[in-house]
Amino acid sequence: MSKKVVVLTGAGGVLCSTLAQALAKEGHKIAVLDLNIEAANMVVDSINSYEGEAIGVKANVLKKESLDLAKKEVNRQLGPCDILINGAGGNHPLGTTSNPYLKEEDLKNTAEGFKTFFDLDADGIQFTFNLNFIGTLLPTQVFARDMVGREGCSILNISSMNAFTPLTKIPAYSGAKAAVSNFTQWLAVHFSKVGIRVNALAPGFFLTDQNRALLTDKDGSLTSRGNTIIGQTPMGRFGEPEDLIGTTLWLCSEGASFVTGVVVPVDGGFSAFSGV
Ligand code: NAD
Repeated sequence: MSKKVVVLTGAGGVLCSTLAQALAKEGHKIAVLDLNIEAANMVVDSINSYEGEAIGVKANVLKKESLDLAKKEVNRQLGPCDILINGAGGNHPLGTTSNPYLKEEDLKNTAEGFKTFFDLDADGIQFTFNLNFIGTLLPTQVFARDMVGREGCSILNISSMNAFTPLTKIPAYSGAKAAVSNFTQWLAVHFSKVGIRVNALAPGFFLTDQNRALLTDKDGSLTSRGNTIIGQTPMGRFGEPEDLIGTTLWLCSEGASFVTGVVVPVDGGFSAFSGV
């Protein structure tokens, strides 16, 4: 891949910090964007420690003005954006049910924090839709302007397994990631005449801070949900952030120059397995 300016949102986080480091090792100039500037700067320090080139920029993917300012800083320090990786995303507990299936007795459960479908909070659902979908759309509006009419530019969104088939308990996050996958296809078509490819990764299950409490108990053993996931993953393990590197480098490179509008599962076979 020729040397590019790569902007990653949410790159202070677990998965995209790994992608930022891998892209820096390939010689690209990296803009590490995150709401949490301390986390972004730690990633920058680690990249600069092996003579990579990176800058940390505070940016809120839900605020256009914040992204406009971030773009100015990226352009001033690194030049026009060639590749955008929309990594900021996540779930919210208020858009999550306590149980996978509704049972009649659940309606009488008054335990604090217990949530059925009927207790889901519209604000929690809105938060999740905004963070994943609007948080992909706005950075694209801001940074893709640099890409129009230039060669070798592309966008990589981060979708999820639950976009193909919703996971139990997390309707908001599943719906929001389905929107990200759908938008990836829409945008790939829309941008097809101006030289911008648009694709997405659909990571399977990666043990990160976002889902650790759902998948493991305090002693590190698997919860029943964690066990179910491993049982449904033919390769028999959770993903490691490094598992996303190869597909990312490929989709952002000239090797994928005729690939646009795809959502690639990186999931140890989870989405291919019927369970039988
Ligand atoms: P993470 O929580 O470690 O990182 C997310 C980062 O986004 C954090 O650094 C956070 O500060 C930042 N962020 C949050 N709100 C923001 C905002 N408004 N503006 C800018 N930055 C903001 O999450 P992760 O596990 O690295 O996940 C990265 C992406 O991969 C997310 O889109 C997530 O939904 C997706 N994903 C994760 C998994 C998994 O198993 N971890 C699986 C599938 C998809």
